[in-house]
Amino acid sequence: MKITIVGSGYVGLTTGACLSELGNDVICVDIDEEKIKKLNSDIMPIYEPGVEELAKRNRKEKRLVFTTDLKDAIKQSEIIFICVGTPPKENGDADLSYVENVARTIADVMDSYKLIVDKSTVPVQTGEKVARTIKSYNRHKVEFDVISNPEFLREGSAVNDFMHPDRIVIGCESEKAKDIMGKLYAPLKSPILYTDIKSAEIIKHASNSFLATKISFINAVANICELAGADVEKVAEGMGMDKRIGRQFLNAGIGYGGFCFPKDAEAFIRIAEKLGYDFRLLKATQEINQLQKEHFVKKIEKALWVVKSKNIGVLGLAFKPNTDDMRFAPSVDIIKALQKEGAKIKAYDPEAMEKSKHILENVEYCDNPYDAAKDADALLILTEWNEFKELDMNKIKSLMRHHLVLDGRNIYNPEDMKKEGFTYISIGRSDD
Ligand code: NAD
Repeated sequence: MKITIVGSGYVGLTTGACLSELGNDVICVDIDEEKIKKLNSDIMPIYEPGVEELAKRNRKEKRLVFTTDLKDAIKQSEIIFICVGTPPKENGDADLSYVENVARTIADVMDSYKLIVDKSTVPVQTGEKVARTIKSYNRHKVEFDVISNPEFLREGSAVNDFMHPDRIVIGCESEKAKDIMGKLYAPLKSPILYTDIKSAEIIKHASNSFLATKISFINAVANICELAGADVEKVAEGMGMDKRIGRQFLNAGIGYGGFCFPKDAEAFIRIAEKLGYDFRLLKATQEINQLQKEHFVKKIEKALWVVKSKNIGVLGLAFKPNTDDMRFAPSVDIIKALQKEGAKIKAYDPEAMEKSKHILENVEYCDNPYDAAKDADALLILTEWNEFKELDMNKIKSLMRHHLVLDGRNIYNPEDMKKEGFTYISIGRSDD
């Protein structure tokens, strides 16, 4: 099939690379000329395991093309995926101007049937608005369908999630569109749930909000464990063994971040509000998430007594492992709070340092974890990269000025750390 992907970020690039791997002819479009230039030189603008290999191979075999020419791409394709960003506006609403802009361009240019697939995360009723926009700007008066096909991939395992999804959701009210999408996704052999468009839109916001709530729930439990002298890791294990609950997303820590959970939870609250419902549960989820970062900063303050002029080493900046994404990463709030108190920050992350440089000022970026630990009064673990689980802790200890480790992701065993001679403070465990 001939496909255009509008927006070549984490979602668009992964979708384009995977659909071309399945044998389709794909044109990935972006307005960012620098991004397209890089992609045309086989340089990936993001770190996402597996994407580079697929993109290079399919570009070489001419099934995957990168361009800034949206109009030409639209003319050549039957299916157009909208994968542009929907960032939060100041009031928390999703900014739909990128989606609207693309819809108008499609309407202006299309001269044969087009199936417009919204993959960006959008508020319920956006599909209707996109269809209305295309109808009113439809210069050549051609037939078209607008459907919703929310994306559930996780950064860090995006290719695997795209190729082996738990489910594919298609919100679609046209038999023709249903037939095309069924054929497109048939090679994945994954369950497809067909719904109306509005339900598909809500499935995406509800899923992300539910996962965010699960994280905040275990963080709230972690706080109770700290007060009671219990171990949140054991509590999560015991809860997770119940199949109705499941162990995933019960990892206590410094809270969720990334481009999706914070903005989608906020957008869902705003959507509910506009429809006349006060989503208090989700507001509490957000509040707990914010407090969790502040709670971690308080632990650092308590352990160091005076933060001013202390050297603080940071391991991990990305909002989660296996990505370079720094958007809404908890590390940003935590580091800024410590800098405000006069701390000197040295940091290391395997992939996110380049992106971090645009967000965090006055940070000394290091070549490896050991450099970040050198002369540190405290070492913080802010992202659970596997690399940090395998460190030579003897070496770390010999490099640090004060043997204090504050683990915001519970990656170490408290007993082992004590034996190694560290003061070890983690989340939801009575070790501190
Ligand atoms: P991103 O910021 O990485 O990529 C969006 C891209 O769209 C950018 O490269 C931008 O330059 C481009 N763009 C904007 N306007 C354009 C236009 N008019 N024409 C062409 N390109 C344009 O964003 P992302 O992380 O890929 O997310 C995209 C959407 O998918 C969002 O709605 C997001 O909520 C949703 N989503 C993201 C993830 C994730 O893990 N990142 C997962 C599922 C869903």
